[in-house]
Amino acid sequence: MNNILAVIISDPIYYVISGFLAVFVLFGIFLMSKVEKAKLGNLISGFAVLSGVVVSLIKYNVLPIWIIYLAIFIGAIFGLIITFKTKMIQMPQLIALLNSLGGLASAIVGAYALLGIATDLTVFSTSTAMIALIIGGLTFAGSIIAAAKLHNIIRQRPITLKGHHVWTISLFFLALVVVVLHFLLVLNPIITLVLLTVLSLSFGILFTLHIGGADMPIVISLLNSLSGVAGAISGLAISDILLVSIGGIVGASGLLLTQIMCRAMNRRLLDILFAKPAAKVTPQVEPETTLTAGELSTHEKADYQAIFNAAKEVIIVPGYGMAVAQAQHLVKETADLLKENGSRVRFAIHPVAGRMPGHMNVLLAEVDIDYDELFEMDDLNEDFINTDLVIVVGANDVINPAAKTDVGTPLYGMPILNVDQAKEVFIFNFDLKPGYSGVPNPLYKKEQGVHLFLGDAADTLKNFLSELKKDIT
Ligand code: NAP
Repeated sequence: MNNILAVIISDPIYYVISGFLAVFVLFGIFLMSKVEKAKLGNLISGFAVLSGVVVSLIKYNVLPIWIIYLAIFIGAIFGLIITFKTKMIQMPQLIALLNSLGGLASAIVGAYALLGIATDLTVFSTSTAMIALIIGGLTFAGSIIAAAKLHNIIRQRPITLKGHHVWTISLFFLALVVVVLHFLLVLNPIITLVLLTVLSLSFGILFTLHIGGADMPIVISLLNSLSGVAGAISGLAISDILLVSIGGIVGASGLLLTQIMCRAMNRRLLDILFAKPAAKVTPQVEPETTLTAGELSTHEKADYQAIFNAAKEVIIVPGYGMAVAQAQHLVKETADLLKENGSRVRFAIHPVAGRMPGHMNVLLAEVDIDYDELFEMDDLNEDFINTDLVIVVGANDVINPAAKTDVGTPLYGMPILNVDQAKEVFIFNFDLKPGYSGVPNPLYKKEQGVHLFLGDAADTLKNFLSELKKDIT
């Protein structure tokens, strides 16, 4: 039966199926760019990839190999445990770990091809196998280090060894030299395999150690792209068109995401790769204030209640602190109360709010906030000037007006939400420290129109809401 299936999936049929599956993956990714269709897009892409696995098992006649089912079973159990155990704020390190597995898989395919197990040995298959091994190996090692840094297992700040750049660049060129020597000296493939594995793993470790926590999410996106590139090249090594096309899609989409994040954070990719500091950080002068965490603003209680009740146009700006405080339920409650009051409520989502792209969208979707109420920065930024009230929950850098004025700081030039233009601003941040970039926020000093509610957003928002509700009843 299995043989019959394998015969039916002849090469031309396999090519056509591969083409369709690649289109489905692309279509899924396309849907993911629209918040309300993202879940469907994810399902479609996931289903296409799963179908690709099944088709490959049939095509290469490996269905009867029972150990494959055991491996799939163990992998699925691990996947399920990780999915349920990982908190939203740990998602970047989970993505890094998954990238590492992608790199490892491609490196293994490259190794098999290099040893002539998976394919006939030609100059093309051998050279692509070696490249897949190098890129897969560095992606694997680099992603493990990135995950460890984000999870605070190793120091987040850049770790620089003596002669770091020289070592990193030398390792890369040494790997290329081994590739050339493999052909010139007809090296034993096992020697080549060992040398390339050691060099690529060491390169991945040194390369990622040198990059700081602040740039790590961008590096993870780049490593994600590299895992796709490694997959595509390993596909070339074993002449598998499906692997080439899906790897190519992952590689291209990862690169696009990297570019989007760089632009939104006002960083150049080359500066990140060579660990060039973002810019001089201005001395971290604490804004003058008498408030401490846990205190409400100096304004009278009646003031902010009146502002809240009178606001017709309201924009809510979530940030990383909302994720830390897990305050999304309270944010939804606030929005509902405003709507009951007759206000129009919209959410402004900065492209790098939180610690990964889409972080805020996922949290807000979790509490059933209508997708129609979520707006990207460019679609709403002109409206702040006509807004009665902006409610900021755990966001700092993405609303920091210093980005427009403070030349020489890491934030300068980063597009930000024009919160400073609104009539009234309520800020539910933990304290008055600068955000992720380390640049103090002049909004905290503004005496008119800015009201600070300091402390854990889960507590301050809860108190705020209960005060309001007390007055309504
Ligand atoms: P942010 O600049 O890190 O500011 C978060 C604010 O929330 C801080 O004021 C913080 O206070 C406060 N906070 C922390 N815990 C809180 C709690 N429990 N309750 C209330 N407030 C709390 O975050 P953001 O405005 O979302 O900006 C994102 C930053 O991350 C940007 O600089 C961006 O470039 C960077 N980044 C984003 C991505 C991405 O893909 N989204 C990737 C890499 C880097 P404390 O400072 O006192 O903790």
